[in-house]
Amino acid sequence: MSEFDIIIAGAGPAGSMAAISASKAGRKVCLLERKAEVGVPVRCGEGIGRRGLLDHIDPKPEWISNTIKKAVMVSPSGIRIELRGTSEDFILDREKMDSDLVKEAINSGVSYFAETPVTSVKKNGELYECITPKKTFSSRILILADGVESRLARFLGWDTTLALSDVETCAFARVVSPLIEKNACIFFTGTRVAPGGYAWVFPRAVGEANVGLGISGNNSEPGKAKQYLERFIESEFPGARISNLHCGGVPVARYIRPLVKDGAMLVGDAARQVNSLSGAGLAYSLYAGKLAGKTAADAINGNTVNYKHLKTYEKNWHKKFGKQQLRSYSLKKFVEKYGDDSFLDRIAQSLSKEDPSKLNYLKVFTRTFSGHPLLLIKAIKLFR
Ligand SMILES: Cc1cc2nc3c(=O)[nH]c(=O)nc-3n(C[C@H](O)[C@H](O)[C@H](O)COP(=O)(O)OP(=O)(O)OC[C@H]3O[C@@H](n4cnc5c(N)ncnc54)[C@H](O)[C@@H]3O)c2cc1C
Repeated sequence: MSEFDIIIAGAGPAGSMAAISASKAGRKVCLLERKAEVGVPVRCGEGIGRRGLLDHIDPKPEWISNTIKKAVMVSPSGIRIELRGTSEDFILDREKMDSDLVKEAINSGVSYFAETPVTSVKKNGELYECITPKKTFSSRILILADGVESRLARFLGWDTTLALSDVETCAFARVVSPLIEKNACIFFTGTRVAPGGYAWVFPRAVGEANVGLGISGNNSEPGKAKQYLERFIESEFPGARISNLHCGGVPVARYIRPLVKDGAMLVGDAARQVNSLSGAGLAYSLYAGKLAGKTAADAINGNTVNYKHLKTYEKNWHKKFGKQQLRSYSLKKFVEKYGDDSFLDRIAQSLSKEDPSKLNYLKVFTRTFSGHPLLLIKAIKLFR
């Protein structure tokens, strides 16, 4: 049995950030990862907003494949709306970023164990025990960062079941084609392209992009997201070279509450800390991991390992992003109910008359509702 102050299960961005911040605050930290290599295969569009990245981390230049200042929305009937008034977005290299975060954790003193899946966890007196095929690890605080397929929280009594409508089934590929624009992230909507979701094209370099789509779990069955993706690529980028085609799920639910239980904490996708409308979870994971690691270390440093102290993680998360995340869930529900193809086309039609350099997300929102006052009333009811 190896004993630590804090154990983190899962070395994705949330887990590595938790390990780094807990170790930098002076604690004996262990990071357990089931895979041999983190970040591969990449199951991510790799898109992140400027602030989502720079507010939480000092990125290495090699983590950023592309910087983009333009977003294009394509409506179901093909109307293209350009948004140039938005801030910069980055397309990351997750393979490099995830593996560098683990290296940073190791350099800051974290004991890292790859190929060490945690098969179950239990509380034994004051300590948590993480059982792995190699040996049992124990600690006073346990942070669960085991991603969307998280099973570990259930051992501690959390209900992590996701309704079908709260999962996006995604298919994703790396695509090489001369038709790819390097300077714009493009989003395609419509039931023909991705029922209950959207398709995205995030360019990494000239002629190369991450192309993917998500369909609502309600509309999904085995292999369906992949079929939609192949059809989408064939229609937008005929003759393209396709590699790394993978599937994966994104939790688009409300974040799990409570996030903290008796010395255990949930972070990242395991906590459903994902924007329910866009499916983006990276910025939330980086922030939540860093915050949870620091809160856990402070609790041990101050000999206050109790619910009251650890709960400050949940309070601060809620203040910074949790409220926004819950709003994104309400907005997703609203779009599910009212955002059919003809509605999206009508909005696109009215926005197409705007000057693209002055168009931003706020304007899209106000235009949507100023043209449809009845919808605004329905939306207000949903958000109350
Ligand atoms: C197709 C797709 C596209 C996406 N695109 C974007 C995007 O463009 N922008 C964005 O912001 N977000 C995107 N996301 C979401 C984003 O990838 C996640 O929100 C983010 O990776 C969450 O980080 P995490 O650390 O919580 O989980 P993960 O990155 O999933 O890491 C979890 C880690 O835990 C390990 N693990 C699991 N179980 C165990 C166990 N029992 N024992 C030990 N280790 C374990 C896993 O091997 C993994 O390394 C996308 C997701 C998908 C599926």
